[in-house]
Amino acid sequence: MKAIPYGRQEISDEDVSAVVKTLRSDYLTQGPKIEEFERAFAKYVGCQYAVAVANGTAALHLCALALDVGPGQEVITSPITFSASANCIAYCGGRTVFADIDPESYLIDISQVEELLNGPNHGITGMVLVDFAGRPVDLEAFRYLADKHGLWIIEDSCHAPGGFFVDKSDQQQNCGNGRYADLAIFSFHPVKHIAAGEGGMITTNDVALYERLKMLRTHGITKNSDQFKNASQSIGGDDQNYPGWYMEMQSLGYNYRLTDFQAALGLSQLSRASTNIDRRREIASVYWESFQNEPFILGQSGDMDGHAYHLYLIEVENRLGLYNHLREHKIYPQIHYIPVHLMPYYKDLGWRQGDFPVAERYYSRCLSLPMFPSLTDDEQSYVIDKTKQFYA
Ligand SMILES: *Cc1c(COP(=O)(O)O)cnc(C)c1O
Repeated sequence: MKAIPYGRQEISDEDVSAVVKTLRSDYLTQGPKIEEFERAFAKYVGCQYAVAVANGTAALHLCALALDVGPGQEVITSPITFSASANCIAYCGGRTVFADIDPESYLIDISQVEELLNGPNHGITGMVLVDFAGRPVDLEAFRYLADKHGLWIIEDSCHAPGGFFVDKSDQQQNCGNGRYADLAIFSFHPVKHIAAGEGGMITTNDVALYERLKMLRTHGITKNSDQFKNASQSIGGDDQNYPGWYMEMQSLGYNYRLTDFQAALGLSQLSRASTNIDRRREIASVYWESFQNEPFILGQSGDMDGHAYHLYLIEVENRLGLYNHLREHKIYPQIHYIPVHLMPYYKDLGWRQGDFPVAERYYSRCLSLPMFPSLTDDEQSYVIDKTKQFYA
């Protein structure tokens, strides 16, 4: 049996041709593949606007900028996420505030969030809600809370393209569709569902935010004369027209652009996204069936509709023992995540062990088993056998 990682990208011949074709075209960056990818991705998640960017972290940073996060502001997120979900607030001078997770869903616990919001004199202006492992957050419930307190919502949907939940009106709400969140973000790092090498996407239904994001992605520059602030005569034009070379940098933006060949790869991968999700759900269902009556399993991702299964999580006793046992058999599970508040950077800001007991207990027992569309049935059986063998 060859080594089995927890996640693995797949690059098809079609992916390779798509990239090569773009490499031989006129545009390596700022060309037509970007908009094509944005339109296709917007259609996939069911939102109006999409902005392609360099990576998921850049997407989070631009969202925080577009929402005017700054000093004196606090933003809530989960301690069980990749640190970028929290860092984007710090990039803008804001303070990240954590709230504990729900022990069953592993998602941020809405009652903990509510407690924070009802607490004394905080400066909370928004929430970064993470569809952790691919399980969609109930954004309808969080929107209600956000509206009550005047907050915005960024949905960190890096784990959940193709995921959905069903709201109270019995409507399917796709992750990133912008129905309840102001902005949503995705990553195209190879461990995620859609691999572009590096890459990210922001989705929204808010046209004003969309326009701001497009400018911030490219240095805060606009070439649209309707938006110009300087008078045309003052910069070398005449009283009728701005000169042809003219553009304005109006805000402090960044170069967070995606290249056209990455967009071509993302676009090609996107065409397989739905079938890949189906395969992920099949794998999840087999894990669930195999483990549901095992006493060593203290919790698991389960078998549910709408879950995008970026990860399949189990909680076990003697997690380190199982981790080492699987590695001895060339199975390479992972841990998602070391709680963000226990990272030395956040500890220096005052967070402590014991602050979030549910998240910390989850971390002490969690393991991410191999989960990727090309995992074979034989490989999965081997993983399940070796896991059971350890506890036998
Ligand atoms: C991967 C990931 C990010 C960051 O995406 P990059 O493309 O690696 O910058 C942010 N949030 C979560 C939850 C992620 O899994």
